[in-house]
Amino acid sequence: MLSVEEAQERVLDLVTPLGIEQVALRDSLHRVLAEDAAAAFDVPEGDNSAMDGYAVIADDTPGTLRVIEDIPAGTVPQRRVERGTASRIMTGALVPEGADAIAQVELTDGGSELVRVDRKVERGTHVRRRGEDMRAGDTVIARGTRIGPAEIGVLASLGQSSVTVGRKPTIAILATGNEVVEVDAPRRAGAIVNSNSYALAALAREAGAEPQLRGIVSDTREATVAALRDALDCDFIVTSGGVSAGAYDFVKDSIADLGADTRVWRVAMKPGKPVVVSRLPGGQVAFGLPGNPVSCMVAFILFVAPAIRKATGQTSLFPPVVNVRLDAPLRAAGDRRAYLRVRVTARDGELFAVPMKAQGSHVSTSMLGANGLAIIESGVTRIEAGELAPVLLIGYTFNGM
Ligand code: AMP
Ligand code: MG
Repeated sequence: MLSVEEAQERVLDLVTPLGIEQVALRDSLHRVLAEDAAAAFDVPEGDNSAMDGYAVIADDTPGTLRVIEDIPAGTVPQRRVERGTASRIMTGALVPEGADAIAQVELTDGGSELVRVDRKVERGTHVRRRGEDMRAGDTVIARGTRIGPAEIGVLASLGQSSVTVGRKPTIAILATGNEVVEVDAPRRAGAIVNSNSYALAALAREAGAEPQLRGIVSDTREATVAALRDALDCDFIVTSGGVSAGAYDFVKDSIADLGADTRVWRVAMKPGKPVVVSRLPGGQVAFGLPGNPVSCMVAFILFVAPAIRKATGQTSLFPPVVNVRLDAPLRAAGDRRAYLRVRVTARDGELFAVPMKAQGSHVSTSMLGANGLAIIESGVTRIEAGELAPVLLIGYTFNGM
């Protein structure tokens, strides 16, 4: 059986970044920058004051100086500070010629004709240097960066009201199963509500794709092939269910019927072993994920989300794995690598991983609040409370670390 890492590598080999498009800066949150963002000018544009106070010559301090100008922020100083003089200056205002330090107002008597500076002020004090934040020509944000609030702020200060970003991949989401019914269908015995499609669509959106719900397919090869064929207009196709060894599991064969090149089939992990990943003749990538809600989400997080990120042009594809102290013991069968749901919480200034009570792959509520997957390697059956365990951080905010 393939290891998770081998399977991830094979999946990413099938994906190349899609095209690019322009979006308004205000619509660019969580998109992926497609071009390096470079500074066209120095920021700040000139030396400016970090304090309200007086622009002085350091060698004149302490002492009493004649105030020659008032410089509010946003104005250009008109007069050069000579020996024995000072200009009153506000935070953010350009430092006048001649001055080499700012005496903050608290160190002075606040005078407007004459000012007394009580203490020695060293050269350079409270002067923000030209280009200290960004230098003209510098790459400030590398392409492939997922745009967050700080990136939006910096892009705005670079004067970019629109941004070139990677196109969002489209992803068709299909549920399979004769027992699976729509969320608003009347309840009936034996039916299972299609929860997977909604959870997968949300995961897809978080990863940077545009999900399209394509309904529920009944368990026949013909229906499955037809539904897959209808989904070929999308960059990715994801199905849930129908990939186990049951008599009604047609997904793998149906994908093959479309002329697919299957690169991943079964991965040494629990949950989520029955996974199929194939490249279709038109370049689309099809993922057949297991039907159990937890397996389905875990497989998406490990295989589909990184593929989406790569398609958008994002350079950081995997969430981080960190060692976290266990709050309670974790158990695994030891036959394959296990991913167990935990909630990483802060207590007394430290992080602890609290395992979810139920770890069955059918217990959808065990994913509630789970922001980590503790990894137990094959051959290990128990990690004790108080020990460190590697945890894959899966919360949205961890993407791109
Ligand atoms: P399967 O691999 O098709 O046998 O599905 C395994 C389990 O997942 C079964 O208990 C299904 O009822 C359940 N399941 C399959 N598809 C969905 C879905 N779309 N939403 C929720 N549960 C599902
Ligand atoms: Mg099924």
